[in-house]
Amino acid sequence: MLDLEDRLDELNQLGLHQRMRMVSGPQGPRVVLDGRPVLLLCSGNALGLADHPRVRQAAADAAMRWGVGAGAARVSSGTMTLHRRLEERLAAFTGQRAALLFGSGALANLGVIPALARRGEVVLHDELSHCSIVDGCRLSGADVVAYRHGDADHLAWALRQCDGRAALIATDGMFGMDGDVAPLGDIVALARRFDARLLVDEAHALGALGPGGRGAVAEAGLEGEVDVVTGTLAKALGSYGGFASCDHVTARFLVHSARTLLHSTALPPVAAAAAMAALELLEEQPRRVEKLRANAESLREELAREGFEVSGAAAHVVPLVVGDSELAARIVDVALEAGVFAEAIRPPVVPEGTARIRLAVMASHTRAELREVATVLGRAALKCGFRPGAGVPVAAAHQVFDGLAEAA
Ligand SMILES: *Cc1c(COP(=O)(O)O)cnc(C)c1O
Repeated sequence: MLDLEDRLDELNQLGLHQRMRMVSGPQGPRVVLDGRPVLLLCSGNALGLADHPRVRQAAADAAMRWGVGAGAARVSSGTMTLHRRLEERLAAFTGQRAALLFGSGALANLGVIPALARRGEVVLHDELSHCSIVDGCRLSGADVVAYRHGDADHLAWALRQCDGRAALIATDGMFGMDGDVAPLGDIVALARRFDARLLVDEAHALGALGPGGRGAVAEAGLEGEVDVVTGTLAKALGSYGGFASCDHVTARFLVHSARTLLHSTALPPVAAAAAMAALELLEEQPRRVEKLRANAESLREELAREGFEVSGAAAHVVPLVVGDSELAARIVDVALEAGVFAEAIRPPVVPEGTARIRLAVMASHTRAELREVATVLGRAALKCGFRPGAGVPVAAAHQVFDGLAEAA
């Protein structure tokens, strides 16, 4: 039997240990961490809606009106008018005809992908897709192809190898670890040419990219050109839950075949009502999305001033690739001592040799706070013997991954 303590020691030595830190209070730009106030740079609450008074009030009202839990799966007694209204709204927001709520964004991918692909067929996903896409592909029983990150030519090559077998392409719209965007125009064209289905996961892009924060698909002008959009209610929308939006037939099919929808309790009405209020706020006040973009831009500028290599993507996720896992973890620890709470992202979440400090900007950060973040990180890097600018830029980090994939 595998000795779990040995395995934990091994992970520790590799700098891959995880810990769960205790945050008190809501996910604002500053939080109290282990009793000390710090600037928060690792929350998905990008638009500040998780702690918005109107969203909180909507959740409180829903709890009083409908109770806390939904009580049953959607296909049993768990569907409430609230779920249906939110689905209609999400469908419209993502430019689709219908939508289905799931327990979370991960559960949406884990339910939808296996429903749309099966043994004997092929699923193709970007090699840096979210874990729930990768796991959904594995669960499907179809042959799985991981095409090179953002590489439409490699995807085209892989589709040609399918020899006309039914194919499903799955990709993140915006990638959560690098903040870059999939080449959706090319992917849509390939899906058409090869008669493949296309799923785009907009978890990170909703509220951040596109007109009014409608996502990467909308930003590329491709609304209605993607078969299924999946997403989460837990990041920019500040609540909890996930969804898939698509046409009516696909939605009806998913009700019969997505196992994470069939065999799991419906979203709590509290979470649905909060997401609905957040979506309303987002539609009423698109300036939040602009503020997020402007903040991302300022943080990039400040970091560049400190000498860091910052990728060109305009999104609110800013990766600083350090390379070594242990070094990334040390820099993050030193930064935390100085009051900046950022996250070290290490393998297996990112490819070997591309450990990074990942900064998630929020619309609610001030410019002065973002300047402080850059200064603190610059000092922390130097203190740990890492010269900002000596890091691996994201594009080069991907080549490292390609090399490893080919060597394997
Ligand atoms: C966060 C995320 C998910 C998971 O969403 P949850 O609602 O937290 O389960 C799925 N896909 C992508 C691309 C994500 O970034």
